[in-house]
Amino acid sequence: MPELNLVLLGPPGSGKGTQGERLQEDLRLPYYATGDILRAAVREETELGRTAKEYMDRGDLVPDDVIVGVIAERIDTTEAADGFILDGFPRTLPQAEALAARLEELGRALTAVLLIDASDDEVVRRLGGRRTCEENGHVFHVEFNPPEKEGVCDIDGSPLVVRDDDEPDVIRHRLDQYHEKTEPLVDFYDHQSLLRRIDGTAAPDDVGIEVERTLATLRLEGDEAI
Ligand SMILES: [Zn+2]
Repeated sequence: MPELNLVLLGPPGSGKGTQGERLQEDLRLPYYATGDILRAAVREETELGRTAKEYMDRGDLVPDDVIVGVIAERIDTTEAADGFILDGFPRTLPQAEALAARLEELGRALTAVLLIDASDDEVVRRLGGRRTCEENGHVFHVEFNPPEKEGVCDIDGSPLVVRDDDEPDVIRHRLDQYHEKTEPLVDFYDHQSLLRRIDGTAAPDDVGIEVERTLATLRLEGDEAI
């Protein structure tokens, strides 16, 4: 079977993390979320992990070439020999270009980029409605998963609060960042015929079915190419 090298793209709150976890189970491919990978590289004290840690300890952003190096380390392992799922990377055009270059060095290429899309309004509705239990982090949603009693955790009775990340100003800022830095990747990958658009506003199960359909089509195209 040809390898399946996937990138998940989409705004915060589009549900791509949920889909990524499903894919990981269904396809039995490693799922690399950038934050997790960086932490793992630091924990395993790889050379790049040590470099990344210096930046993180200073509270600085880890530069693109270091992140790309850390991701490439992962991709170039036996666990990723049949493919991989990237989430949260690449996040900028320079990262995407660096990823393409490193994959080429490894004699590999991306199979597809799945854009799990949602409008700004939908993102604000999803993230802005989250309420988190102060004590134990249980998550509710005022609209989709409301607690029995407003402002109180069903499980342990702790107060429910809006996390800093879910404050409207912060959500708007994250969306601005996405539109400015990450959204150019949509055209970048579309021009390479790698982009597959998936409507992330449907229910997670329906989004999952759409993802499966897209992958089935990719396999057919792959077979025809051979
Ligand atoms: Zn709780």
